[in-house]
Amino acid sequence: MASDKFWLACSVCGDYNYVTCKNKQNTQGKMKLMKYCPRDRKHTEHNETRLRD
Ligand SMILES: [Zn+2]
Repeated sequence: MASDKFWLACSVCGDYNYVTCKNKQNTQGKMKLMKYCPRDRKHTEHNETRLRD
């Protein structure tokens, strides 16, 4: 079984900067996290984006 994979996409420039896996039990909609964006060179809001094959 493949685990659920999420990208954390920068809400400012749209880059997918981080990837993370989550258990389905913990999935409660999209989360927003403050993460460092190399393109913006600062911490920005990142939205979790689920990838589905
Ligand atoms: Zn960015």
